[in-house]
Amino acid sequence: MAINFKEKIRVIPDFPEPGILFKDITTLLKDGPAYKAALDALLAYAREKNAELVVGPEARGFVIGAPLAYALGVGFVPVRKKGKLPAETVETSYNLEYGKDVLAMHKDAVKPGQRVLIADDLLATGGTISATISLVEQLGGRVVGCAFLIELTYLKGRERLAGYDIFSLVQY
Ligand code: IMP
Repeated sequence: MAINFKEKIRVIPDFPEPGILFKDITTLLKDGPAYKAALDALLAYAREKNAELVVGPEARGFVIGAPLAYALGVGFVPVRKKGKLPAETVETSYNLEYGKDVLAMHKDAVKPGQRVLIADDLLATGGTISATISLVEQLGGRVVGCAFLIELTYLKGRERLAGYDIFSLVQY
């Protein structure tokens, strides 16, 4: 029987602050058949896009991106907060609700022309993924798709990422 993914995602009101309905994917991740089925759906999309590399922002992007890379037999590249990666990096700053943050990726992580799939747990405003796209493109990579477990459609991340191919398993 098909899995109802929304039933597997726990929604926590007022986290991390009042008024936010936080989508907690840990309840899906700990459920083996649900986690596998979710990854399989994202994998089918990644295969269609002929991805040659998977890039994921910390930390939940690792939980989605790394198993996809393994299943595709391609490499995985972590995007991290500035100051965490040991070798030379490219960086980009992006706006948070309050203030700014800087994301970084190793300079030798992506080859020019490489077909890159970006993976994360959730698309909200698209700020994190815009910054991740910018890092990939600074190195000459070609973003062929972006795959998410969850899309919060009312935050219009898809509009912000206009021109890029987006796939999400579950929408709110
Ligand atoms: P964006 O940059 O506004 O698209 O926010 C997406 C990032 O924020 C993702 O990396 C998510 O992990 C995180 N995020 C935002 N809202 C939620 C939520 O409700 N549950 C889990 N993660 C969230």
